[in-house]
Amino acid sequence: MSKRYLAITLVITLIIGLGMHIPRKAAKKPFTVVIDAGHGGHDPGAIGYESSIPEKTITLAISNEIKKQAKNKKIKFLYTREGDDFLTLKERTALTSLEEPDLFISIHLNNSAKIKTGYKLFYSDSNQFADLSQQYCQIVANELALIGDPFPFTGIKQANFFVLKKTACPSFLIDLGSISKPKDLAWLTHTDNQAELASQLIDVIEQLEKHSH
Ligand SMILES: [Zn+2]
Repeated sequence: MSKRYLAITLVITLIIGLGMHIPRKAAKKPFTVVIDAGHGGHDPGAIGYESSIPEKTITLAISNEIKKQAKNKKIKFLYTREGDDFLTLKERTALTSLEEPDLFISIHLNNSAKIKTGYKLFYSDSNQFADLSQQYCQIVANELALIGDPFPFTGIKQANFFVLKKTACPSFLIDLGSISKPKDLAWLTHTDNQAELASQLIDVIEQLEKHSH
């Protein structure tokens, strides 16, 4: 191969390479968020007071409320489930490798009668975006603190939950409270409160979207 031929080939390769690259960078990808409603199908999650409503039903109700209310064009929402479906933890996190989202939020509740009423946030130190995940938790905590009683903020914690450490993007889990406490369960199962929570979560995600650029 002559030097001249080699030079031309190199230039053409560069042009093709750049040409393929530039438009993709220029096209702004919306801030993409995966909402993961914990549990589902044969996995009910926590069973609450008087076994009335399982965790899976409440997490899905809030996820579906987010879907109903989300209008911001700058944010694309994806959902790990939209019905009473069972998904393995691996299937939930696999979505983050496929879709390359900017954030993964897992929604859960707990069944401890001892834990203080309120919500808490978890992120994982083992997530490849641990620092950003922690920063996001801080922003969420500040924003959600506005809701206040009966939904106080009780802290940010580190936990190596599978859905936090294996997600290929910043992630956090929000535990919305205990369904073993009759008062909390009554509050969390009320559709107006679920709609309010979803609306607050959307507001918070909008703040995170602003923070991302
Ligand atoms: Zn759970």
